[in-house]
Amino acid sequence: MKPMIKRVIITAGLEAIALSRIGRLLPKAAGRAVIFTLHHVRRYIDRPFDPNALLSITPDFLEAAIQEAMSQGYTPVALTDLPELLARQDDGKRYVAFTLDDGCRDNAEHAAPVFRKYDVPYTLFITKGFVERTHTMWWETAEALLREVDQFQFDFGEGTEIVACTSIKQKNATFLRIARFIESIDEDIAVNRLNQTAISHYIDPVKIIENEILNAAELKRLASDPLAHFGAHTVSHCCLTRIEAARLEREMTDCIEAIKNWTGKTPTSLAYPYGWKRACGAREANAALKAGLTIGVTTQPGILDKPARDEWMLLPRISLNGHYQKRRYVAALMSGIPFHLM
Ligand SMILES: [Zn+2]
Repeated sequence: MKPMIKRVIITAGLEAIALSRIGRLLPKAAGRAVIFTLHHVRRYIDRPFDPNALLSITPDFLEAAIQEAMSQGYTPVALTDLPELLARQDDGKRYVAFTLDDGCRDNAEHAAPVFRKYDVPYTLFITKGFVERTHTMWWETAEALLREVDQFQFDFGEGTEIVACTSIKQKNATFLRIARFIESIDEDIAVNRLNQTAISHYIDPVKIIENEILNAAELKRLASDPLAHFGAHTVSHCCLTRIEAARLEREMTDCIEAIKNWTGKTPTSLAYPYGWKRACGAREANAALKAGLTIGVTTQPGILDKPARDEWMLLPRISLNGHYQKRRYVAALMSGIPFHLM
């Protein structure tokens, strides 16, 4: 389905649920806990070409989401406190945990003050290779490249071709094509090919990381915030189901070790890069357990009731998505109803 059409349908669904106040009629659809996923938290910039807009919310929307959760009676807790809290007898208490993927600098600048204002614990999922500037974010590189150029040469696997991307429509289509390409061959090779193309157009993918992602010193500083918690998001942010077992192990253990050194806190949770179904499964969950982790979160939507033991390593989360920044949508999502309808 075209992303734009999909967005209209989802918006309509969320509006319908919010309007009908169906959540109040069917409280049983709601679970005992909700885990929110965020990425960037920063000021909104209106840009016609903005393929990563879904990954950015404003500090105001974060504040609205916290207020909505609290007004519904949810107690904000650290992600790692959930197993113990949900193991207790259901006493009607509900919990909300906020998580932020990738370790964006704006999390410390714009999200941390909001969390502090409401005394809300939060967990940042850190990618070792981003902090050390050894790895890059292909989706940000692709956005920067496509914003800059009207055409470029690229080999999507069938030889070098000239890719036209003059119009916004072409840029969006090319972004999706690059996303599919990243999944089509070895991810390291694909990302490297994209990086080389960007560099040839004077776009530095490492510079993007330097601008967007917290460095080791900043992480250390953030770790002094008692509300800040840290989880692993691997070394390279690759799709874990596509790599061999030995590397899978290193992606987790090396990341855990680095976070421990930077923050003084040993992470016990992991967010699987991308987090969708084909990016994490039983093999990855077992590797995480073996690495000493006790919670694994996906990006598959859903709420928590009382996860079984094996479900703690593949928990669903609700995305606070840049395309749906309305407090009433948060209420609709927390009702759990959208996930029953999917
Ligand atoms: Zn990520």
